[in-house]
Amino acid sequence: MSARIPLPPGATIGILGAGQLGRMMATAASQLGYHSISYAPPGDNVAADTCAELFERNWSDTGALAQFAKRCDIVTWEFENVPLSAVAAIPEALLAPAPRALEVAQDRVNEKRFVEELGATCAPYTRVDSDDDLARALERVGTPGILKTARDGYDGKGQWRIASAHEAAGVRFPGRPCVYEGMVAFETEFSVILVRSRDGEVRFWDSTANRHESGMLVSSTLPAGALVESQVEAARSVAEKVAHALEYTGVLCLEFFATEQGPIFNEMAPRVHNSGHWTIEGAATSQFENHVRAICGLPLGETATRFASIEMRNIVGEAALSAHAMLCEPGEPHLHLYGKREAREGRKMGHVTRVSQ
Ligand code: AMP
Repeated sequence: MSARIPLPPGATIGILGAGQLGRMMATAASQLGYHSISYAPPGDNVAADTCAELFERNWSDTGALAQFAKRCDIVTWEFENVPLSAVAAIPEALLAPAPRALEVAQDRVNEKRFVEELGATCAPYTRVDSDDDLARALERVGTPGILKTARDGYDGKGQWRIASAHEAAGVRFPGRPCVYEGMVAFETEFSVILVRSRDGEVRFWDSTANRHESGMLVSSTLPAGALVESQVEAARSVAEKVAHALEYTGVLCLEFFATEQGPIFNEMAPRVHNSGHWTIEGAATSQFENHVRAICGLPLGETATRFASIEMRNIVGEAALSAHAMLCEPGEPHLHLYGKREAREGRKMGHVTRVSQ
């Protein structure tokens, strides 16, 4: 189908990955009259509840990927670590965003270089491929710092905090390419979430203040406070340059640290993002709906915030088992449970959004 013709109702969106982001994306797609089918390796594929079909096959099964692609009018992803070899089994004309975004974002060092070249400031960092590199990185960047695997990290996994030179003595290269970066003394973390249409129109949602614990997002709050608000424009300018440079279609998230010296870029996610879940109830159009609109060639929806104050909190681990009790709380919290079968510690099971005028 031509990239310029909007996909008609009844068309099929293929989603690579089948977690909660795919689940919520398929819900938004169904409201616009689209069918979604998802593809993911065997696992707790909760997008299967909202997708018409799940191809539960490995990423290496290029035959299954080709069959999947034949069923789709457009293919997107909800998971940025889909192997590039799997993406290559899908005709490029079907893919939105274009796979270049994955290539950049799958390696922390590539990503930092790419965004720095477009004018962002990063924490000092060095690539680490051996014990010797680690020793040099510790000397050059100093402590405190964080050693992170360059690939496949999420929710703080694959990260080692090194508080002091004394502690550094006990840290070994973990055997996988890493980046060592200086610890940023930030006041708040925030994200810039934008949507870019096929034609290059860009819209931003308001930036939330994000709180993390052990590397995992705990909550996103609006208003985000004076420091974040004073740095959003500079951060947006970087994010917009990234979106244009990648000829990006869909929702893109860049995370920043708000510091006294200005915004420091942390990382990007070429997909809908946890810190944008508040947009389901809190914005005129949610990140999920606008992602679908963008990749299908529909007009973008308004991104304006609808409430004076908003808080989204993740529901993690066993807290999900008693989450229905929130339905009795005042202020009508908006509860989203992802239907995961096992409430493991540290696992995102759902979220709740509270809004007030
Ligand atoms: P990341 O996976 O890189 O987003 O890291 C997860 C979280 O760890 C971030 O959201 C921060 O809360 C914290 N973190 C990561 N890198 C740094 C850094 N260089 N300085 C301070 N905090 C960091």
